[in-house]
Amino acid sequence: MSNITTTQNEEAARMAYIGRSPCGCVRAATVDDPARARDVAKEIAAMVRGKLTIERVTCESVRATDWKCPEHRVATVTQGALL
Ligand SMILES: [Zn+2]
Repeated sequence: MSNITTTQNEEAARMAYIGRSPCGCVRAATVDDPARARDVAKEIAAMVRGKLTIERVTCESVRATDWKCPEHRVATVTQGALL
């Protein structure tokens, strides 16, 4: 018995890369989109240069992520961008 639609399956399967700072908060994220593989690679490289820990997670979990810890309340975080 399955009432999961194709759309929901695709959404659940979408992955993203996040960059987590040493304190644990997420500072950057980029959707793992094969059509933008080159850009995604650059964004991940920027996260690594920014000393962030890279994790591959579902887009769903990115949306549920608490992006700002108290120490980084003023951090500028935009989709697919760092610094
Ligand atoms: Zn933090």
